[in-house]
Amino acid sequence: MNQHYVFVNTPLPYSYDALEPYIDAKTMELHHNRHLQTYIDNLNDLIAPYPKLHNLSLEELIYNADKMPPEIRVGVKNNAGGVYNHLLYFDGLNVNGDRVFDSYKDRIPEFFGSYENFKNEMKKSALSVFGSGYAQLVWGSGGLSITTTANQDTPLSMNLIPVLNIDVWEHAYYLKHYNQRAAYIDDWFEAINLKND
Ligand code: MN
Repeated sequence: MNQHYVFVNTPLPYSYDALEPYIDAKTMELHHNRHLQTYIDNLNDLIAPYPKLHNLSLEELIYNADKMPPEIRVGVKNNAGGVYNHLLYFDGLNVNGDRVFDSYKDRIPEFFGSYENFKNEMKKSALSVFGSGYAQLVWGSGGLSITTTANQDTPLSMNLIPVLNIDVWEHAYYLKHYNQRAAYIDDWFEAINLKND
């Protein structure tokens, strides 16, 4: 992703069918090419009339949304958050690349006891999201922990560094898993190659 306006949806560094059979190619295509694209288009449209915002990075737009003109505050927060969350989600699935997650994953046993326990905690959090949102592995003053965010809120507004997230909006899994969020979460764990083994 380029650093500021005009934001552009760059191709994923892996093919849409790379996560088969865990996450199907059609879901990946729609998720990246339609859902993420819509957040990017909306964000560009919102800030187009405000040249002072054109040099702000995605993170700066999220951090500063509350200080923006009232008519675009909510829109910028939701759409910049939507872009940010999705970029991290797709990054987490880039198992052969240099993921944000890869800098932290060796420390999972230190903060969760074991990889198995981390999986259990992440799954419990992802299941606990009511409606649309994310479970997010984050880095903060206490080290690694898991939090949930509603809609397109991000952990940035809690002064936490997002490391890995699972999108539990139904568009992330409905084509393959229907309404079975738990089955999608199990497949997502296979797709992210937790221990790189
Ligand atoms: Mn999504």
